[in-house]
Amino acid sequence: MFCVECGAEGKVYESVCEKCFLKKHKLAKLPDALDIEMCKECGAFLIGSKWMKVPVERAIEMVLDVAISYEKVVGNSRFTVECYPEDEMNFSIKVHCDMYVDDLRTEKDLKSRVRLKPSQCLTCTRKKSMYYEAILQVRADGRDLSEEELDRITEVVHKRVDASTDTFISKEERMHTGLDFYMGSNNLARNLSKELASMHSAQEQSSPKLVGMKDGHDLYRVTYLVRLPQYKVGDVINHQGTLYQVRRTATTVSVMNLEDWKLQKFTPSELVGSKVKECLPVKAVLLAQTESEMQIMDPDTLNTVTIKKPEGFQASGEEVSIIKCEKGIFVAPSQKD
Ligand SMILES: [Zn+2]
Ligand SMILES: [Zn+2]
Repeated sequence: MFCVECGAEGKVYESVCEKCFLKKHKLAKLPDALDIEMCKECGAFLIGSKWMKVPVERAIEMVLDVAISYEKVVGNSRFTVECYPEDEMNFSIKVHCDMYVDDLRTEKDLKSRVRLKPSQCLTCTRKKSMYYEAILQVRADGRDLSEEELDRITEVVHKRVDASTDTFISKEERMHTGLDFYMGSNNLARNLSKELASMHSAQEQSSPKLVGMKDGHDLYRVTYLVRLPQYKVGDVINHQGTLYQVRRTATTVSVMNLEDWKLQKFTPSELVGSKVKECLPVKAVLLAQTESEMQIMDPDTLNTVTIKKPEGFQASGEEVSIIKCEKGIFVAPSQKD
């Protein structure tokens, strides 16, 4: 075969040799400038119709993927890009294209500019307008929340919100009695309600409220209430006449029988209505002990009292930790026991 343009012999592409073919065809081209909308609040980029939080180089790559136009004759192609910032919002870019036309591999460099245009993404627009789909409320049964509980729950909620790209908290209230989160996503609020409930042996309930219409459907705003139990880890509960120390609250409640130090588990609903006492262990002077009993000095009355020891327990030292309650005095288990 020979080239109809220059007469050279060899393989031809559309009747001309490789050299003449490449002279005639641009193969790939780019507009002189590409504009990318960038959210001035959170830095997300609008790629196609989606707001994405990615590094600027990745955003440019994704935009180029659509912006480079190849001639029909081009088969497989790849490109790499080098970005040179002119300032914070403008980049000159060099795009290196690697293309195949039939079995002919050819390369081409293209130049263009990328201009970032300040804008505001949907999430930030909604956040600014105080939009919310659900309220997540955390309360405790018959008591305030401890500072530690308030901190821990707030941390969990923030972690989940930060990990998702399209939601936010538009308002947040912290009171002694609990927490209110006004959340941009009903789904996340529902998931968090379940997660917090199973972390804390809590009861959860949801109440939808009709707030209007959207596209012909009723529009509801849901309040999720997570109600922590009255007891906290370390508290003593009286469940059907037996005293237990609460060891762990999760989907089930782990407790220790104060008389024999046996561990047991209850579901949160089994313990609804159990009397709760905040019984912090106190120190008492140890006077004497046998295999099954010990004598201590009651720190309040200074009387000598004989108490039963849990099986296998051997006190050491001059003092022992006790729990005093209306049913008597018990040896306080430590968290290790
Ligand atoms: Zn030729
Ligand atoms: Zn944004």
